[in-house]
Formats: sequence, structure tokens, C-alpha cells
Amino acid sequence: MIVSPKIRGFICTTAHPEGCAKHVEEQIAVVKEKGTIEGGPKKVLVIGSSTGYGLSSRIAAAFGSNAATVGVFFERPGSEGKTATAGWYNTVAFEKEAKEAGLYARSFNGDAFSDEVKHEVIQAIHEDLGQVDLVIYSLASPRRTHPKTGEVLKSVLKPIGENYTNKTLNTTTGAVDEVSIEPAEGDDVDQTVAVMGGEDWEMWMDALMKAGVLAEGVQTVAYSYIGPEMTWPIYKNGTIGAAKEDVEKVQRSLDSKLAPISGKAWVSVNKALVTQASSAIPVVPLYISLLYKAMKDEGNHEDTIEQMDRLFRERLYNGKPDPDEAGRIRVDDWEMSDKIQEIVAKRWDEVDSDNLRDIADFEGYQNGFLRLFGFGLDGVDYEAETDTAVGVPSLS
Ligand code: NAD
Repeated sequence: MIVSPKIRGFICTTAHPEGCAKHVEEQIAVVKEKGTIEGGPKKVLVIGSSTGYGLSSRIAAAFGSNAATVGVFFERPGSEGKTATAGWYNTVAFEKEAKEAGLYARSFNGDAFSDEVKHEVIQAIHEDLGQVDLVIYSLASPRRTHPKTGEVLKSVLKPIGENYTNKTLNTTTGAVDEVSIEPAEGDDVDQTVAVMGGEDWEMWMDALMKAGVLAEGVQTVAYSYIGPEMTWPIYKNGTIGAAKEDVEKVQRSLDSKLAPISGKAWVSVNKALVTQASSAIPVVPLYISLLYKAMKDEGNHEDTIEQMDRLFRERLYNGKPDPDEAGRIRVDDWEMSDKIQEIVAKRWDEVDSDNLRDIADFEGYQNGFLRLFGFGLDGVDYEAETDTAVGVPSLS
């Protein structure tokens, strides 16, 4: 099958197997270029390992620290005539590269929120690795079936209390319009906290601890975002921000629970980047386009792989996590620097459909989005037939 991008709003419904493989190879090269992470993780569980920050975490652990990795994700396999989701192809490529490098890699495709998947993963760790010394929690999901009640909970991206109106970007046409978003109602906040908050992270850690598969000195990290004030009504002070506050609460609780095995729980605040999850948030793609331009001009732009490499190399494994006053690791530090934020804030007021391509990196945003699905990578023949039904080795 010849595969081309089919974009519907903020998702692309196709993915390119060789393109995704190339994207994974490029990420591996970034990590290898920097050399070995001294004292890095050795046995790692990544929950949400197939795309975005989770995939880059898995790559940084495996190729920066020769770690054995177990990955959990929810992706759709392909068939003849239908492509898989990008995360599936990313994992096919990751496992192939890991095998060639002599690294253990095992993957689980299923609902990470369920008791069954937790049980299967724990069993596998028990049998194959004994224990893990790092657990990354990087799920981003619009819904969760609660494992105890069976209730299907939905996460929404809404302001809390009042309407929010601001500029937004049509990421297909490049038009800068205004968007007005109604505030959360009913149990929107509770449902969003139930999906994107910390309960499932805590359930994972409780189950792993109970099964005795956490090594002495284990670290666990969940990812968060704060961002600048212009996005606070829809992010930090919105429904998703309430969920992230809950993640921080759970981090403190996990810290106490892990103390007996000298373990440590962290929240790492990462940079705003185009991923499948962030492209769905109103206002954020315009902010990201302005941010990319400012950071590229400054020479300190990073993608998910550079962020995760820096998190491991310079914070988690060199004894200098450098937490903020709330105990969070901040690899969003370069994004949030006064210099970058002043530029972005000024341009936020000025930006419109006419000057978007001059003062923002719309091309970078669009390229970044397409790359998530394996399109627009150098050295891939997009005219050639490709096998869309490739399987993840550890799942076949
Ligand atoms: P993403 O959409 O790229 O990745 C989500 C991952 O979760 C995928 O591996 C997917 O398969 C998996 N997943 C979703 N539902 C699942 C389920 N039910 N069972 C198993 N796996 C499931 O998202 P991302 O942007 O990398 O986000 C990961 C984390 O990073 C989130 O907590 C997000 O808030 C945080 N973060 C993102 C940004 C950003 O700008 N993208 C910035 C800071 C923090």
C-alpha cells in the first residue's frame, strides 16, 4: 500500500511504517551522540511508551543507558490496506533497533487503566527482569474505564468558572481566529481528574510495590505542564490543570510510600511540544508555533527526545534534580525563561493570519505534526509500496 497523510482536524488517521521507523532512528541517534548516561537506569517500565514523551523516555533509557525496557500503550495494529496507528509502527521500529543493540524490550498493547494489563505487566517483570528501577508514567488519554466501578470517565479541556476567549490557530489552514470555550459544567472537573489525574499512577505503583518488583532506590516520574499565563485559563487553571494538581498530590503520597525502599517519586514539568495529545488543546498550537520560532532563534529548541535525554542525563541520574519550590523537576526551564516568554507574549498580541509565517514557526509546527505520523522524514520513499501489516515482534 502507498501511504499518504489523511488529516482530520487535529489528528492524522494514517501513519507511515518506514517514516515512523526513521523518526525512531533519528531519536536514537540524538541519544547515542551524547554518549552513555553515567549511572542511568537499567530496568525500566514506561507506561504510555509508544508516542510523544513516553516513546522518547523509552529511547533515552534504552539507548542512553542500555536499559531493558517494558512498554505499555494502546495502539491499533495495521492490516493489508489499513495502516496501524503511529505508536504501533514506532514500537515495531523501537523493538527492532533494541534487538540489534542486544537490549531486552517487551511491549504490551492494552488498556493501562485496567487491572488485567497491570497484572500481565507485573508478571512479565517478575519472570524476565525481577525488578525495575525506573517507572515512567506518560499516559495521555481522553477516557478511562475505572477498574473498580466500570464507569467510563471522560477528560475534557475546558476553563473552570468562566468562559475563555483567546486567539487560536487553525493548524490546517494557518488562519488565526478567536475561540471561545464554555466553562466546565457538571462533573467535568472530577471526570478529567479521574482520567488524567494521579489515581492510576498510584494504582500502578501500589501494584508494583505489592508484587515486590520495585528495586531498592527506584524512581518514578509522571509528566506535567504549566506554561505561560496566556494559556492558564485553558491549561493550568482549567480542567487539565486540576488533573495535574492531583498528579502532584499523588507524587507526595508516593514519596512516602516508596521511602521504605529508598525510592523517590517525581513530577517533571516538560516543555510544550507538538504531540498527539497537545495538538488537541485549543490555543496551545498557536503558542507552540510562537514558542518554536523564539526558541529556534535563541538556539535552545528541543524536541521530546532532547527533553527526555536532558531529564535523565542532567536531572534524574547526576544527583542534581534541582527541584522547584513545589518539588517538581523543571525541564521546561528554557521555555519559561524571561527572555523567551517576553518574546512570545509580545508576538502573541501581534499575531494574525497575515504575519503568522513571519513571527511564528507555523511550518515547524506542521512538520512536527506530520513527523509524529511518519511523514516528511528525509530518506523515506513515500511513493513506494509499504507493508502496513507489520507486527510488533514481542507481541507476535
Ligand atoms: P501522547 O499522546 O504522544 O502519548 C500518550 C501515550 O499514552 C501513548 O503511548 C498512548 O498509546 C498511551 N495511552 C493512551 N491511552 C492509553 C491506555 N488506555 N492504555 C495504555 N496506553 C495508553 O502524549 P504526550 O504529549 O507525550 O503526553 C504524555 C504526558 O506528557 C502527559 O501526561 C502530558 O500531559 C505530558 N506533557 C505533555 C506536553 C506536551 O506539550 N505534549 C508537555 C508537558 C507534559
